[in-house]
Amino acid sequence: MLELRAITAGYDRRAPAVRDVSLTVAPGESVGLLGPSGCGKSTLARVAALLHRPDSGTVLLDGEPVRHWRHRAPRALRTAFGVVFQQPRLSADPRLRLTDLIAEPLRATGRGDEVPSRVTELATSVGLTPDLLARRPHEVSDGQLQRACLARALVLRPRLLVCDEMTAMLDASTTAALVTAVETYRTETGAALLAVGHDRTLLHRWCDRVTEWESLTGVPTTSPAA
Ligand code: ADP
Repeated sequence: MLELRAITAGYDRRAPAVRDVSLTVAPGESVGLLGPSGCGKSTLARVAALLHRPDSGTVLLDGEPVRHWRHRAPRALRTAFGVVFQQPRLSADPRLRLTDLIAEPLRATGRGDEVPSRVTELATSVGLTPDLLARRPHEVSDGQLQRACLARALVLRPRLLVCDEMTAMLDASTTAALVTAVETYRTETGAALLAVGHDRTLLHRWCDRVTEWESLTGVPTTSPAA
């Protein structure tokens, strides 16, 4: 379903963060991508989620090469992905109440009529109570905000979820709740998962298959300070 072939990507063409990396996620499969901080996992995850155009290589979705990234990608492709990042405060609009944060992708795609039922359903799944849904990001904890970000990522029923260090900042019980919400969603829908992180125990527990960054690049990574 998702195939990354010989991806080279980064922020400076003379020194790419990701060099010649290939990775496949089959339909319904959960793949963990494990590597030290700074090795290029987030960059690859952003390429996979069509948020960062690679310098070279090919991304295929259902066998079709992707030609456009970010807002230039066709809506059907963009909405096939749900993405959750490590730091919810960088991705959440601080002006929106959590309920509107979750609902916004539905409204933006002309599906506003689904908002009440879908927000209620997802809030239950990620463990957000009505009083929390009425608050803005600065009025909730990182864990509560990350729950809302996960609900938002699921609201359009993506076929593929990309979780980039989704739980790295969270305590054990919030981590367990979010992983359970992802797995419940995947069981219901058959969606695939690419979970990027450095927590070996978590990824091995969570995923069908865990790939080491080193095995993708063939170049041993030196581990810069986190
Ligand atoms: P990881 O997710 O494995 O920690 P990243 O993909 O975030 O790794 O980073 C890979 C490399 O790219 C690092 O050296 C990092 O400093 C650099 N990098 C990440 N984001 C940017 C950016 N927006 N601009 C310039 N360099 C970046």
